[in-house]
Amino acid sequence: MFGRSLGLAADLAIDLGTANTCVFVSGRGIVLNEPSVVAFNTAMNRIEAVGSKARDMIGRTPRDLVAVRPLRDGVIADFEAAERMLTDFIRRATRRTMWVRPRVVIGVPAEITQVERRAVKDSTLRARAGEVYLVDEPVAAAIGSGLPITEPIGNMIVDIGGGTTDIAVISLAGMVYRKSVRVGGDEMDQAIVDYMKRQHSLLIGERTAEQVKITIGSAMPLAVPMQVEVRGRHLISGLPTRVTVSDGEIREALSATVDTIVHSVRDALERIPPELASDVYDHGVVITGGGSMLHSLAERLRTETELPVQMAEDPLTSVVRGAGRMLSNFSLLKKLAS
Ligand code: ADP
Ligand code: MG
Repeated sequence: MFGRSLGLAADLAIDLGTANTCVFVSGRGIVLNEPSVVAFNTAMNRIEAVGSKARDMIGRTPRDLVAVRPLRDGVIADFEAAERMLTDFIRRATRRTMWVRPRVVIGVPAEITQVERRAVKDSTLRARAGEVYLVDEPVAAAIGSGLPITEPIGNMIVDIGGGTTDIAVISLAGMVYRKSVRVGGDEMDQAIVDYMKRQHSLLIGERTAEQVKITIGSAMPLAVPMQVEVRGRHLISGLPTRVTVSDGEIREALSATVDTIVHSVRDALERIPPELASDVYDHGVVITGGGSMLHSLAERLRTETELPVQMAEDPLTSVVRGAGRMLSNFSLLKKLAS
């Protein structure tokens, strides 16, 4: 099993997420976890930065620099930027072993088209991969979360990412139900931006909104109320201003998005075949992805579905860890990847 990775080919597993991309190298573990962002210089027609460096430029870019998120809504919105990003990440992850082309397992969003699948495969091959296997993110997330997906049991996984929430029920290594809803962490951030503008005449950026969400965002009332100071620019005076907001206000701002997530899960439970539904009632639901870490979201889902709901261990890396596990299990790889 390790023979191939001993200085020869370092096989890679990649989670190409709408918000974050993670790279796992066999024998080394996760070597890269960066925002899926590319900073493009329009005047010079070249890429200035990729990953966290590029993300830090969002909202702060000079006129000729635009920060692009190639996978913004769960689909590949910008092929060229996606390929450049992938190439850069693969090069950084494999810098010492580039003389052998690695085998790459790459997790792709649940609902990408055949054309996009082909494009991801070709991009990865051009990025010096030897062989490329595509795996559906919900399947990889389920493996990474330790679910027994090859057994004849319905396993429900809900992956709440930046651009989408993907719900899947997997049994005997196949997806018996899949649904991708275009809501997730990005929409929550936007809802906070809108709320601050509407209620406090305060203009804030996406990254500030994300910080507010992570600090005091919640899906149910908190035991101990919290508040946070938000800095932005006043809509009318145009001056830098601070406003203090409570967890209740942010919960209100997030409520539509959270409701959509909850309803989608309930809807899935109503649509899956009865045998599998009864498995889900017995074994419960696993939630993963960065959005699953929203405070009290698991509890809210538990209350509204009356099911056991469990958060995956390290929700930000379950896809890449699942894909990584497939690298060392070739029969699983053959069965699940295309
Ligand atoms: P993707 O797979 O689409 O790249 P991720 O699973 O990496 O997405 O999740 C990214 C999203 O998770 C972002 O919207 C981020 O703001 C959100 N997130 C990260 N940590 C938290 C947290 N503690 N609470 C709420 N949301 C979070
Ligand atoms: Mg993801």
